[in-house]
Amino acid sequence: MPLDTTTFRNVINGELTSTATTRHGVNPANKEPNPEVPVATQEDLDRAVKAARAAFKKWSKTTYEERRKAIFAYADTLEAHTDDLAALLTREQGKPLDQARQEVGMAIVWVRSLPTIEIPETVVSDKDDCKIVHRYTPLGVAGAIVPWNFPVVLALGKIIPAIYTGNSVIVKPSPFTPYCGLKIAELAIPHFPPGVFQALSGGDDLGPMLTDHPGIDKISFTGSTVTGRRVMASCAKTLKRVTLELGGNDAAIVCPDVDLDKIIPNLAVLSFLCSSQICMMVKRLYVHSSIYDAFLAKFTEVVKAFKIGEGTEDGAFIGPVQNGMQFEKAKELFSTIQSENLTAALGGQISESKGYFIPPTIIDNPPESSRVVQEEPFAPILPVLKWDDEDDVIARANASESGLGASVWTKDLEKGQRIADQLEAGNVWVNTHFEVSPFTPFGGHKSSGIGSEWGLPGLVSYCNSQSVWVKKA
Ligand code: NAD
Repeated sequence: MPLDTTTFRNVINGELTSTATTRHGVNPANKEPNPEVPVATQEDLDRAVKAARAAFKKWSKTTYEERRKAIFAYADTLEAHTDDLAALLTREQGKPLDQARQEVGMAIVWVRSLPTIEIPETVVSDKDDCKIVHRYTPLGVAGAIVPWNFPVVLALGKIIPAIYTGNSVIVKPSPFTPYCGLKIAELAIPHFPPGVFQALSGGDDLGPMLTDHPGIDKISFTGSTVTGRRVMASCAKTLKRVTLELGGNDAAIVCPDVDLDKIIPNLAVLSFLCSSQICMMVKRLYVHSSIYDAFLAKFTEVVKAFKIGEGTEDGAFIGPVQNGMQFEKAKELFSTIQSENLTAALGGQISESKGYFIPPTIIDNPPESSRVVQEEPFAPILPVLKWDDEDDVIARANASESGLGASVWTKDLEKGQRIADQLEAGNVWVNTHFEVSPFTPFGGHKSSGIGSEWGLPGLVSYCNSQSVWVKKA
């Protein structure tokens, strides 16, 4: 059956529920309103938490195998609705349809892969008089707070680890992109007992309601560093466990020995995918001065060829930025091209159009102190900078409060590893960037986050650590 993408409701205790007040998101490609969605109240959240706590009692007693089976069946349902979910994602987020399909496909891979990771139970010691076992037990109720750039994969990347490890979960999509988040919860209804997997859409007050709620044991949050600080402060009141995946200002260091024709198409995609609204995009591109001019000329040619257009247009690679707030922020940052006397090698102007479109913009060797270097733009504007000395470029790459990702590009793998070893980031790559896997922990250093998601560490972040001592005598 095709997915109904006209009606959107919260999922509370296994039921689709509406609210007295509704609101709607906007299609960023044409600013037209998307359908109405619920605005959850404190009372809705209280009901969801009550249902989640009741469901946790039984769900936490099921085996990993039982949970895995339910999750695999859910993955099949998601897969059967890939096209509908991808079309909905393009309508709410703006990303081109093939990228939306990739996100949904990636999410399904995550749903199928995460529950194959074994959660260990370790016999620490087994002697005549005493046995000590270390194991992980579920926490209770998890709250998953999701941003608007990858509403499907980032939601399921929290939901599945929570459920698989025996918790119940309440997911809160961003008010900018609530649609897919609500539908993935609706599709889950037949697969999980009521209260295990719930979703609430709301306004700006719903996130703080979740972080404040005494009935929620853990918050997994992905979003900006500014909000992450607020989330942590709020969670401290009830000593909730927190995982924070926050902003980044990733550096990529290009060494003089690279094959320009090979790496430039990759680096162009890794700098401008999703209109650069990705936490781990290349946001500062350091190129060795001996190849700088040739690099910049070729890089600009490749980026110039990216087709800008609505997500539904054939061949579009650069869609609109996701929302008006982001568009205004970008316009303000673009104004620094003039106020800071920067040189745009490509783009630089934002003109009014029917959607929130911004042309990809490359800034030619701006000073390190310029805002476009210091801040995370989250819009398609990229500083390309010159470097000469290895120690100096490493220091410049590390001179950021953020530490999410960083990469080195070179044919000399030993040199690549040597530079990578000195980079202060949670994800370091040689000759690639933004590669992720459900089996690999993912998180940030410094202001880019606390804890990690995915892989075994991500799964056990939804658990208590428990040591069991059995005296035999
Ligand atoms: P945001 O911080 O504005 O919002 C994220 C989510 O938090 C939304 O669901 C929002 O409704 C909710 N929220 C807002 N205020 C809250 C509060 N006080 N308490 C609880 N929840 C609250 O971020 P955004 O603009 O949606 O996303 C963009 C940012 O997210 C960028 O900085 C980007 O780098 C970062 N990001 C990080 C990762 C990562 O994994 N590290 C991934 C994607 C995006």
